[in-house]
Amino acid sequence: LHRFKVSSPAAADRLLGGLLSPEFDQAACLSRYEASRRWKASPFPVSPYLVERLRRYEANHRRCGPGTARYRDAVAQLRSGRNADDDHAKCRYVVWLPIQGLGNRMLSLVSTFLYALLTDRVVLVHETPEVEGLFCEPFPGTSWLLPPDFPYKDGFSAGSNESYVNMLKNGSVRYDDDGGCGGALPPYVYFHLEQIHLRLQNHTFCEEDHQVLDRFNWMVLRSDSYFAVALFLMPAYRAELDRMFPAKGSVFHHLGRYLFHPGNRAWGIVEKFYDGYLAGADERLGLQVRIVPQMAVPFEIMYEQILRCTLEHGLLPQVTSTSEPGGGARSPSTKVKAVLVVSLKREYYDKLHGVYYTNATATGEVVAVYQPSHDEDQHTEARAHNERALAEIYLLSFCDAVVTTGWSTFGYVAHALAGLRPWQLTPLDWGKMRADVACARPASVEPCLHSPPSLVCRARQDLDPVAHVPFLRHCEDVRAGLKLF
Ligand code: GDP
Repeated sequence: LHRFKVSSPAAADRLLGGLLSPEFDQAACLSRYEASRRWKASPFPVSPYLVERLRRYEANHRRCGPGTARYRDAVAQLRSGRNADDDHAKCRYVVWLPIQGLGNRMLSLVSTFLYALLTDRVVLVHETPEVEGLFCEPFPGTSWLLPPDFPYKDGFSAGSNESYVNMLKNGSVRYDDDGGCGGALPPYVYFHLEQIHLRLQNHTFCEEDHQVLDRFNWMVLRSDSYFAVALFLMPAYRAELDRMFPAKGSVFHHLGRYLFHPGNRAWGIVEKFYDGYLAGADERLGLQVRIVPQMAVPFEIMYEQILRCTLEHGLLPQVTSTSEPGGGARSPSTKVKAVLVVSLKREYYDKLHGVYYTNATATGEVVAVYQPSHDEDQHTEARAHNERALAEIYLLSFCDAVVTTGWSTFGYVAHALAGLRPWQLTPLDWGKMRADVACARPASVEPCLHSPPSLVCRARQDLDPVAHVPFLRHCEDVRAGLKLF
């Protein structure tokens, strides 16, 4: 363990510029100190203040985490039916509940962790059977898993009485003159951050609401969204966020690399595939094709768009109409380009592989096309399926360049972990059955928040946040969405 503490350049890299604590057993989680060998160097330096905040968070999590006397006290208080008074509250928690696919979950979990950092809460994750062991523990000497006997983890929705917005409506919480909340509070609050028609509920990202939310020692949160972006709209959090992230467009990149470490089963898939198919190539291009049933783009149209994108941007070479190499015999210096196709569907791989298998390329490069799996449909309920999905997110993140499908949180996670600006396939214009521009390069590596919060509770700011916040942009693929830049 201690050899990683030596400050040689290699050691610094293994710990991702100080993001990772050196205090873990390496064998229990092989990916933790190994993933850095596969990623390209990060374009964003890690701020010393972020490192300091992470170490402070870890110490607090050890103090308050499951198995500690403080945790037992806090659960006893929770069961007593009312929130503890400020003075008695030693530890505060945010319980993260899963919804949707892996990409959505990773976005909402990073957001929840950032919220915990800003509000001195401890994150506890409800690990359901389909994701058991998918990720390693991220904090040394403690656990982020919600103990199984925790009473409040099922059945929450926008309609729940415990939801903050409903508490406001029915008067169980209210603002008082000093911006706080009068009277005794219920034992916990449910924070519903699931998008409704591409918006988050009103009263979820306003200063006065966060002052009230802050008084609950227990929060249960469910979200499908990258609401980290919305935390930047809150003046109270800005100074801390500025110090932690001098480059705003690096939030998921750093926190995702910090929090997520594939467990040994998923990592085994990554290593086998990488070493077997990708490691030997001169260059690696990732191609992620996500076709969702609600907007099922026909194969021929999508395939044509992918070809247009890759040829226009020099990502793949043209093929010649023959299988004979143009410039004579293949020399040992011939470049090999590996293309990693990641998709639930197999037809994109089949066709692309067929093309480059049969024909020579105009540049003389060899293009080798691979696809790790093709499960056909999403099966979030199946553990092995989720392990393949996670493995493929990481494999994509190890590529030198990636082409991804717009709207896909799966794709967002891969390019944000990599620190790569993708070539993002433009959503289809259904009227024309064509995308005018095949693909566009987003301005940052950050994921998009598809569902911005309504800000009407701060009337003077209920304008387009992009016009007021210098480091926000609308997303290239989701027009009303917001992303950090
Ligand atoms: P999104 O729906 O594209 O925003 O991404 P999510 O990750 O939230 O949900 C999609 C889920 O479908 C993933 O988590 C996987 O379970 C599955 N899936 C989608 N695309 C792929 C793929 O290319 N490979 C694998 N193995 N699974 C995928």
